[in-house]
Amino acid sequence: MNTEMEIKKAANILANAKRTVASCGAGISAESGIATFRDPGGVWEKLNPAEVGTAGGLISTLTRNPHKLIPFFIELLETFQKAEPNPAHLALGELERMGILQTVVTQNIDNLHIEAGSRSVIEVHGNGFRTRCISCGGTERLERKRIIKDTLKKVRKMQEFTIEAIASLLPPCRNCLSPTRPDVVMFGETVKDIPEAFEAARRCDVLLAIGTSGTVYPAAYLPFQAKETGAKVIVVNPNENAFSEVSDVYIPMKAGAAMGEIIKYIRKLTAL
Ligand SMILES: [Zn+2]
Repeated sequence: MNTEMEIKKAANILANAKRTVASCGAGISAESGIATFRDPGGVWEKLNPAEVGTAGGLISTLTRNPHKLIPFFIELLETFQKAEPNPAHLALGELERMGILQTVVTQNIDNLHIEAGSRSVIEVHGNGFRTRCISCGGTERLERKRIIKDTLKKVRKMQEFTIEAIASLLPPCRNCLSPTRPDVVMFGETVKDIPEAFEAARRCDVLLAIGTSGTVYPAAYLPFQAKETGAKVIVVNPNENAFSEVSDVYIPMKAGAAMGEIIKYIRKLTAL
């Protein structure tokens, strides 16, 4: 299949869509420098998810192995500090402003969709730049670059990584002054807002799957759900993925390049 033709086909479908839902995976943030956790070079090649990916594992690694965690944490923070929304994030923000896109469902916790102008975002794995109170559950958004800068300053000075030291990195709850944690879903915790994500997929007329391989729940099911209720499915992914059965359009490209091209065609079509 000719990729250029597929891009034009995607632009045509989107230009005529009323309710598009974008389902985004790690592939969309990879181009912002955030390595996908599961891929070669990703975080899970350096660390065992059982050691830091669960709340219990994290606490036990912290107390037993602080030397292992501090460099990892600094590297992670620096990666998120450098990240900026890329053309794919910006294209989704623009599609929403054009009235074509209704909702972004994302697995990413990096806040880049919101920074790119998307307003309706379902973050199924939470947001690393939002705190959640461990007592009252209240949440609060943090300013990404500022909190990273402050945190890096504190972490670089740390000799050991105690639970108290970690707790001091995040501001306390505004309501009840209890400690807070990042509002992200760790291994073994329940994924967020799943009914909302499925409802969005059921009601859309186009589902745009970007940078998701189809192995992580719920992203793996959303294109199938959308297809079942009659939506068209557009898949953007340079790698093999599990959606070939349901995709009406398949663009084997990286997210930024593909979405940049698609939005150019849509601008032309909607300007006519
Ligand atoms: Zn609270």
